[in-house]
Amino acid sequence: MFTTYDVIVVGGGHAGCEAAAAAANMGSRVLLVTMNLQTIGQMSCNPAMGGVAKGQIVREIDALGGLSGIVADKSAIQFRMLNRSKGPAMWSPRTQNDRMLFAATWRNMLEKIPNLDFWQDMVGELLVEAGRIVGVKTSLGLEIKAQTVILTNGTFLNGLIHVGAKQFGGGRMGDRKATGLTEQLVKLGFTTGRMKTGTPPRVDSRSLDYKVMEEQKGDLNPQKFSFLEDIASVAKQRSCHITYTNPTVHATLAASLDQSPMYNGTIQSQGPRYCPSIEDKIHRFADKERHQLFVEPEGWDTVEVYVNGFSTSLPEDIQFKALRQIVGFEKAKMLRPGYAIEYDYFHPTQLSNTLETRLVEGLFFAGQINGTTGYEEAGCQGLWAGVNAHQQVHGGSPFVLSRAQAYMGVLVDDLINKGTEEPYRMFTSRAEFRILLRQDNADLRLTAIGHALGLATAERMAQWRAKEAALKQLMHDLATYKVPPAVNAKLQDMGSAPIHERQALQQLLKRPELDVEQLVQLEEGVAQCLGRYASVVQEQAAIQVKYESYIRKEEEFVAKLQKLENKAIPTNFNYDAIKGLSAEGREKLKRIQPATVGQATRISGVSSADISILLVYMGR
Ligand code: FAD
Repeated sequence: MFTTYDVIVVGGGHAGCEAAAAAANMGSRVLLVTMNLQTIGQMSCNPAMGGVAKGQIVREIDALGGLSGIVADKSAIQFRMLNRSKGPAMWSPRTQNDRMLFAATWRNMLEKIPNLDFWQDMVGELLVEAGRIVGVKTSLGLEIKAQTVILTNGTFLNGLIHVGAKQFGGGRMGDRKATGLTEQLVKLGFTTGRMKTGTPPRVDSRSLDYKVMEEQKGDLNPQKFSFLEDIASVAKQRSCHITYTNPTVHATLAASLDQSPMYNGTIQSQGPRYCPSIEDKIHRFADKERHQLFVEPEGWDTVEVYVNGFSTSLPEDIQFKALRQIVGFEKAKMLRPGYAIEYDYFHPTQLSNTLETRLVEGLFFAGQINGTTGYEEAGCQGLWAGVNAHQQVHGGSPFVLSRAQAYMGVLVDDLINKGTEEPYRMFTSRAEFRILLRQDNADLRLTAIGHALGLATAERMAQWRAKEAALKQLMHDLATYKVPPAVNAKLQDMGSAPIHERQALQQLLKRPELDVEQLVQLEEGVAQCLGRYASVVQEQAAIQVKYESYIRKEEEFVAKLQKLENKAIPTNFNYDAIKGLSAEGREKLKRIQPATVGQATRISGVSSADISILLVYMGR
């Protein structure tokens, strides 16, 4: 019934979709096995993509030729560029999405990939021979052979759902849990842990009073995630709304805290500290009289609304009572209760930098199974693992991005070297080179790499080349076009200091109060010269000019660090032969087997003294 596949992807969530698409688009014969074909690309929690640091990841996925950005653009109901008032390193695209359209778009895009097959079933066992993966066995008893397997099980492994005191097995509300794999992997020697996360109740928009809430509109000139020119930004947008909890709501929740499994000790596992439940918030920030809630529509044509900020595992009647005490929610009808879920994950320090497990050759892990949280974090790992599985089968080189090349590089490097004890989400603060890793330049950083891999299409590459050439030309124009002091009156109107001799546009653009929009008003020639360029090219040039010194400093720092990154450590290096390493350093180096000295420096427990000893030893 089945051929032998190059790659089997287990799971059709965000990691699984990207993994399957990447490997198949690069030419592998891929089978996507998932428990329910109806829920491919399902957003388990909030109907939104991107946001701070996560938006940068979506742009990176797109730049490489992945699909999350396109899917998000095609199903967007609102677009906002967050942090516009800060520097460009912080600008973060975010879309509100139509939940059903998002999933349908994923399915539709996957179905267009010719060498990608689908099978609805639960994988309950891995077929392993002599330390190498050879396929999977499903709950129907089918054995399907493959050269590589990517596990992307998300929150499904032994998932346990909690609503108040009620508990039931499930991968998320409405889906059954996945069993068998954790137990087998533990027998194979993997170490596992347990994490938790939660989601808020959904309510009926017809029962809400929006007049008493603040409206939050999308951007006036919405942008998009995808760098592809034929992917449009959202044309018409839906608003979100903002309301707040209040002391009455807090009193209702506080009176029932002992019924919250997150609280009363029923759930012991670690949840995301930065995404706390509402019961956690009223306890941890007891002095706060109110907490902000975002009232987010779940799509174009649905009455379902997501109450962002009200994640809870309290009994449904308490949720309902507390909801109705919120301004605008007095007549709220609840459609689904909030809940918490506990699930198994595997310590990601058991992975190499390709996301292949070190215990079983050809087996890769991607997404929430590695202890991360979030669609974007999952999606980029899926792409990473999908590319590497393909490369392994076809004799290609491993695909690895450094911390200086991409947020994805930061994420994988953090996971495999530091591991994580709580759900890992991306923050801009995790990236030491965030001035280089901006959302606006993800294509300049990554598209050529994606194309060389065979993932970014020729069309994408042609558009990239045209943009790069235009950018070069514009940078040249900015450096060589000079305006005379005759423009001083205009400069004064713009609140900018006069010039005393002819000055290059580039110099003026460095001034914080001037942007391309102002420069074109200085004289007709400038308008003609700069007007030839697309707005994305203008914006890119302006960022490069304004932040030139910061960018240069980071690039210089990266070049210094690169020397350590280039110093490769042979595989199966014998750390026992090195005298003087600390006991912890030796243990971690042996366990993680870093590929380079640079990677060794980032392993927690490996001290700088250990690195010096290692360098001296390698020098010999
Ligand atoms: P998932 O999206 O979970 O997909 C897993 C896929 O694998 C599913 O298609 C499933 O059917 C399939 N599958 C699993 N096991 C098997 C098997 N053995 N055989 C075949 N198929 C299998 N993220 C945030 O960023 N913020 C939040 O606030 C947040 N809250 C959440 C609340 C809840 C209740 C849940 C469930 C998730 C929440 N998330 C949140 C996490 C977010 O949904 C995940 O990070 C993301 O979906 C992970 O993607 P994934 O591809 O790894 O797994």
